[in-house]
Amino acid sequence: LVSRLKDPSLFRQQAYVDGAWVDADGGGTVDVDDPATGRKIGTVPDMGAAETRRAIEAANRAWPEWRAKTGKERAAILRRWFDLMMANQDDLGAIMTAEQGKPWAEAKGEIAYGASFVEWFAEEAKRVYGDIIPNHAPGKRIVVIKQPVGVVGSITPWNFPNAMITRKCAPALAVGCPVVIKPAKMTPYSALALAELAERAGFPKGVFNVVIGKSASAIGTELATNPIVRKIGFTGSTPIGKELMKQAAGTVKKISLELGGNAPMIIFDDADIDAAVQGTIASKFRNAGQTCVCANRIFVQDGIYDRFSEALSAAVGAMKQGGGFEDGVVLGPLIEGAAVDKVEEHVQDAVAKGAKVAYGGQRLADMGPNFYKPTVLTGTTPDMKIFREETFGPVAPLFRFKDEAEVIRHANDTEYGLASYFYARDLGRVWRVAEALEYGMVGVNEGVISTEVAPFGGMKESGLGREGSKYGADEFVELKYILMGGI
Ligand code: ADP
Repeated sequence: LVSRLKDPSLFRQQAYVDGAWVDADGGGTVDVDDPATGRKIGTVPDMGAAETRRAIEAANRAWPEWRAKTGKERAAILRRWFDLMMANQDDLGAIMTAEQGKPWAEAKGEIAYGASFVEWFAEEAKRVYGDIIPNHAPGKRIVVIKQPVGVVGSITPWNFPNAMITRKCAPALAVGCPVVIKPAKMTPYSALALAELAERAGFPKGVFNVVIGKSASAIGTELATNPIVRKIGFTGSTPIGKELMKQAAGTVKKISLELGGNAPMIIFDDADIDAAVQGTIASKFRNAGQTCVCANRIFVQDGIYDRFSEALSAAVGAMKQGGGFEDGVVLGPLIEGAAVDKVEEHVQDAVAKGAKVAYGGQRLADMGPNFYKPTVLTGTTPDMKIFREETFGPVAPLFRFKDEAEVIRHANDTEYGLASYFYARDLGRVWRVAEALEYGMVGVNEGVISTEVAPFGGMKESGLGREGSKYGADEFVELKYILMGGI
């Protein structure tokens, strides 16, 4: 990895607390492996509750100075951080490909996406406006101000090692909150490179902290129960999100959760098939199917089912798979063996219940430990695991449907409600379906919906709160109402 980097000092193998690079108390470490080859890349400190507590206390000490800065001063530091991320896009992308597996071009795309939140919230830092409410009685005045909530604990997953951090930290930092970040132990180097750049950008010590360890629950429990922490931002699985919500209840913390999805992609008879195939590929196979907004269930209307499945299989067959640094590769490995096992289990379960493999359907052991061939299944039905559970892998199951009412019922028949997509041209149908889908986000004739300017988030058991956009900063402030009398 180091030989690929223009600036090797971005590859840090220590945690970052209170403005210093530090090891775990006992000196213990955790290995970090390349998912494409299984080879070790390096180590990081194996920290626990004690180190996390110190990071929280450091953040709290840094808070008064950070919140006292003007929005413009904080904006300038965030802007420098954004510029540094973009100036080091190739290196940050290479670090990500090495630890996460996604193709380098896609990794660089994530760096630009992650950085866009820093740019956006640098701009928003100056616009944390309050309100003046017309008085309800003579001699009184009412003012509403927004103040930073306090120390923010941020727990992030391995599938977007950069962007899930910036999506939480940029708004927190912009409004005046210090942060303690716990990245996934499989992808810590992207987080540590961000810390290195945060230091260069000029964040005061203690404002930006990264702790890492083997035991996610030791660090997570400290973040979710320590009374100093006033807000938890989490992206990850629904079961862990529920656990954190319970833990955070003890001190009534604010909490934002971006949890699992089970996204429907609906292709109606009047869809533009070529566009629908492109959108399905983009939504389904990005990051090898390992995103919470990946299409998980693809519903195709009767009249175009066969044509669509043929066109999709051909497009899937044209995708180049391999190590993320190889030229032209668009599909990398899965993150670990357990992820491949789950994909295999879902495909086997579907086939046992009558689905047909139209393309793929097997592991690719020759390519590396964690590769699964991109797969298209036809004849899938709601009694299969692949309908109920998030597959988080490169498998496109095609469900056949007859009419709009039936497909809406099936699409909403899940406890999840994050992203949804559909392809149709009839204007009435577009409105009806968009309004009927019980999802936080709807892509109409589009397979990629993420952008820093729009609110990202889910309904039902997919989460709480929104990230990005003008709404994103509200998650990190307290509203305070001030009544002035005697005027
Ligand atoms: P994913 O399926 O994306 O790995 P997880 O919910 O397992 O989802 O992990 C997301 C993040 O939550 C990671 O940083 C992981 O280390 C962390 N995590 C996992 N278990 C716990 C826990 N018990 N408490 C706090 N954080 C946890």
